[in-house]
Amino acid sequence: MTNRNQPRRGQWVGEYLNHNQCRFCHGTRLKDFLDFGLVPLAGGFLGKGSGIKEFNRERKYPLIIAFCEDCYLVQVRTIVPTEVLYKDYFYFSSAIGTLVKHFQAYARELADLFPNTSERLVVEIGCNDGVFLKPLKQAGFKVAGVDPAQNVVKPLIKDGYQVAVDGFNPKSAGIIKKKQGLADIIVSSNSLAHIDDMDQVMMGVTELLKPDGYLAFEVHYLGSILAEKQYDMMYHDHMSYYSLLTLEKFMQRWGLEIYDVKPIPIHAGSRRFYVQKRGTGKRPKTNAYRLMKREERRLHYDKYSTYADYYQKIEKTRNDLKKLLKSIQREGKTVIGYGASGRATQIMSFCGLTKADLVYVVDDAPAKIGAFTPGNHLEIKSSAILDDPKKRPDYVLLFAWSFYKEITAKHQVYFQSGGKFIIPLPRVKVIDV
Ligand SMILES: [Zn+2]
Repeated sequence: MTNRNQPRRGQWVGEYLNHNQCRFCHGTRLKDFLDFGLVPLAGGFLGKGSGIKEFNRERKYPLIIAFCEDCYLVQVRTIVPTEVLYKDYFYFSSAIGTLVKHFQAYARELADLFPNTSERLVVEIGCNDGVFLKPLKQAGFKVAGVDPAQNVVKPLIKDGYQVAVDGFNPKSAGIIKKKQGLADIIVSSNSLAHIDDMDQVMMGVTELLKPDGYLAFEVHYLGSILAEKQYDMMYHDHMSYYSLLTLEKFMQRWGLEIYDVKPIPIHAGSRRFYVQKRGTGKRPKTNAYRLMKREERRLHYDKYSTYADYYQKIEKTRNDLKKLLKSIQREGKTVIGYGASGRATQIMSFCGLTKADLVYVVDDAPAKIGAFTPGNHLEIKSSAILDDPKKRPDYVLLFAWSFYKEITAKHQVYFQSGGKFIIPLPRVKVIDV
């Protein structure tokens, strides 16, 4: 959480905070490697019926990514306050079927590990609408959650769940401790990257975790961002990009240690890290942990030059994409975008794509139809348009490129009748029948 009352590690410049200290180690050797310039908020879609007045009112913020030479954390240096970033936060995890199944399986896995579930307390940081707390409770665990999004957690509280409407910090952790005792397991799924003040989180963890308990958190992995050139994952909402090397140093500062890491089936680019208290935790370090550490050293995740090279690589993908779009335009063919997400905003913004490059963007979600993309204000239409022989475009630029198999399977009619897909990352390519 970031607001104006918090201790400063940088300077407020108008509406954003320019960090001059590292989020993890508070060192001042932050070295920028990627400057996206002034960009709109990746999730800042403009509602249906928006026009010139709304477009002119749209705010833009600098987006600079830096590497800490002391602890290797890759981080957003220009922080937009939480109240601006999540003004309209309506992300309900339970609406996503694959997430519900994932957490049901995860709860069963924990229940197998801990036969006496009724004596065990599981606390979730960023519990959202209870997509994980619910199956945990069904499995017999005592549960508690923390989440600052009041509108999202309200139904959970009504159902009798222990939820602190707050960020995870010593205060909310203290309340749980008083009511339910110390936690056997603290979990978090894809919420830590959204938190600026990680010291508060770690103070909460050390306060609430049993000496022999553990913390298991899921985050998007820096290795995926580097290997697949996922610069489209880098935006204001995602403040930190994690490697084992940086997390290890960070946890040490708090008297904790990482002992295991696992891939997560539903989020291909993410990893789950396991952490215990140093000295009192009894779990040995696993092979997966050792292999990851060796690999990160081999690939120099702890060297600035890696990130300077990275910039060169993503710049090449931008040039290749622009060249391809220009040659398609010269043939008089039409191109549209697919997938109105934050990642789409980032690709369009970094590549400077406008209405001259893409006629419009399509999406599968009915709620987005009629809205406009941030920055370049392209209209969002239904993806059903691909199946209309009179309206369908010649090319579709796939912003949701990691789902290209699912999308091409869904639009076989378009594909089979000569429609072509453009994949922007990790390497620009055209896919046709
Ligand atoms: Zn640092």
